[in-house]
Amino acid sequence: MGKSLSYDIAAILILTLLLISTVVRKLTNGMSNRMFLAFISLNWLAALFDIWAVSLDNAQSTSHFALYLAHTGYLVIHNLTVPVYALFVISLSDTWHKIRKNFIIQFILWAPLITVSAALLTNPFTKKMFLVEGGYQRGEWFFLIYAAISIYIVFVIVYTIYYRELMTLSKFCAAMSYIPIGGAAMLVQMQSPSTLVEMFAAAVSLLVISFGAQRPEEIVDSDTQLMKYSAYASDMKRNYYNKKNVDVVMLNLGNFSEINAMMGYDFAMQVLSDVVDRVHQANMVSGSKADLYYLDRGRFRMVFNEKDRKLAEETAEALVASLMEKRDYNDLDVTLQPIVVLARCPEEIKDFKMLMTFGMDFHQKVKFEPRVMHVNEVFHKGLFEIQGNIDEIIEEALEFKRFQVYYQPIYSVEKRKFVSAEALLRLFDPTYGFISPEILVTAAERSGAIHRIGDYVLEEVCRFIAEGEFHSLGLEYIEVNLSVTQCMRVNLADKILGIMAKHRVSAEYINLEITETAASHTQEIMAENLQKLHRAGISFSLDDYGTGYSNIKRVIQLPLKIIKLDKTFVDEQDNPKMRVVLKNTVAMLKDMNMEIVVEGIETQEMLDFFAELQCDFIQGYFFSKPVPKPEFVSFIKSYE
Ligand code: C2E
Ligand code: MG
Ligand code: MG
Repeated sequence: MGKSLSYDIAAILILTLLLISTVVRKLTNGMSNRMFLAFISLNWLAALFDIWAVSLDNAQSTSHFALYLAHTGYLVIHNLTVPVYALFVISLSDTWHKIRKNFIIQFILWAPLITVSAALLTNPFTKKMFLVEGGYQRGEWFFLIYAAISIYIVFVIVYTIYYRELMTLSKFCAAMSYIPIGGAAMLVQMQSPSTLVEMFAAAVSLLVISFGAQRPEEIVDSDTQLMKYSAYASDMKRNYYNKKNVDVVMLNLGNFSEINAMMGYDFAMQVLSDVVDRVHQANMVSGSKADLYYLDRGRFRMVFNEKDRKLAEETAEALVASLMEKRDYNDLDVTLQPIVVLARCPEEIKDFKMLMTFGMDFHQKVKFEPRVMHVNEVFHKGLFEIQGNIDEIIEEALEFKRFQVYYQPIYSVEKRKFVSAEALLRLFDPTYGFISPEILVTAAERSGAIHRIGDYVLEEVCRFIAEGEFHSLGLEYIEVNLSVTQCMRVNLADKILGIMAKHRVSAEYINLEITETAASHTQEIMAENLQKLHRAGISFSLDDYGTGYSNIKRVIQLPLKIIKLDKTFVDEQDNPKMRVVLKNTVAMLKDMNMEIVVEGIETQEMLDFFAELQCDFIQGYFFSKPVPKPEFVSFIKSYE
């Protein structure tokens, strides 16, 4: 009885559709996609040879040449599919670079393939693999084929389990489905040699893999047809995990959000598709070596293998040049602001999360220049590292008493002497050196450490006030900063009053600075805290007045004694319009009986200007930077 060909024909149909859909869905970029394509193509060819061979058998052909050719063709190609499957699985975990140098794995991958291929190609002479004379029959070495398959399957199982973290569960399951499906088919075929289900089973499991591991909607952005953010994130995460060096060309269109907001969606899409074309063109410079991604909001990434660094540079140059060309869209002249940064990862950006955070908004942090920027110009490694480790830095600083309080003198225009000072937090970390209080305060707010830091600053200030020297210097009070989160602490008032009582410091000596952002929160707890402290006799300053939005209602409602004009006012005082604003702001605040401190005075000229405006107090580098207590004391003494 002849063998039925219907399963093989079904397999060919499935594989043909799969090939077409893979190409149509543009799943042709990247190593794993290319391997998958090769895997489908080989199975397709194997099925074709199988049909030929079986047809010859069924027709009881006597052409030995044709019989050998067809059977050898089928077996050689079939024998190739399994190692290609192994390579596909390896490429799913993106660990190529590891196995490239691993002699044992290279041996496992090549030795069975070479042995079986050699045995098959020499078979017409040795006749050990199969015979065709008098009908197709397996020879005594045929087991080699099963042995090779078994080696690859064991390899794949061990490999996937070892690198399971590098694949999602659905990819893992889909990739592994080939083994039980293929195994079952092999058993069926052993039991009933006339049922040729092996190729059909292979086609079915390729279908399963295609659904499970190659879903384009998961990785391809529908607007640009490039791979999306999630694909970029998972690919880069894998690179970091595998310590695989890649060169990343990062393009953020600085003004894309503005274009979108001003010109609307359709227009922005037109610009976007033009940029996509240019990204493709630039990639041609490199012979299309890069993997392309579109993250969203005008952010593109091109990822090159380490050995293509030179190409990465050239591509980046070509990209900038092309994007800087003038183009009009719908007769509208639009100038793009492409910020292109080249980075080698993980060498230059040590940590995956850092890379992703950096990529979010580097275009907002640099001045636009039409050239390729190197990551070191834009990425402040120290800053990112500090931000990454800030919780530990703060905890250690508290434990080893590394925080310090500095004082910056505040000058009274009327009394012509220093009457107070602002207490400012300082940290010199043994690893990172000086860390700006802005970073510290924001991080400490997030972690909750701000309360302990705040208590520490107030303790230090109270200790200073309690010492006799404070009064002999003629100082009247010290200003202490309170951050937004501190103001919302339930028992803040009690805590502050407690510390002051402990040091026997009375309320008149402490002035608390709150910021406008804090002032714009309408939290009840904050209001209660401030009222309680106010009743206890503590005065308040509104810090950084003129930055955020100046909420006059808040200024009226809060129990404020002092308004601190922010340095931005001072920096702009040359501007005639700003002078008008300043004059009127000062007049308005004075009419409300507020006292005014001007911050950030650096020159005599600035000092004269604000003194003339009748501002009450002056603070700034012109007199002194914030300094440690002993220096502050000698400074005040030297002015007496
Ligand atoms: P701030 O309260 O507005 O403090 C004034 C800042 O301006 C200080 O920066 C001071 O060094 C700086 N400054 C003073 N005069 C000049 C000048 O003439 N030119 C220039 N360029 N800058 C001047 P610093 O010490 O870096 O503090 C930054 C911010 O960190 C403070 O702004 C404050 O919001 C916060 N901060 C500092 N210490 C503490 C603290 O103990 N607790 C809390 N919650 N926040 C603090
Ligand atoms: Mg302040
Ligand atoms: Mg300020």
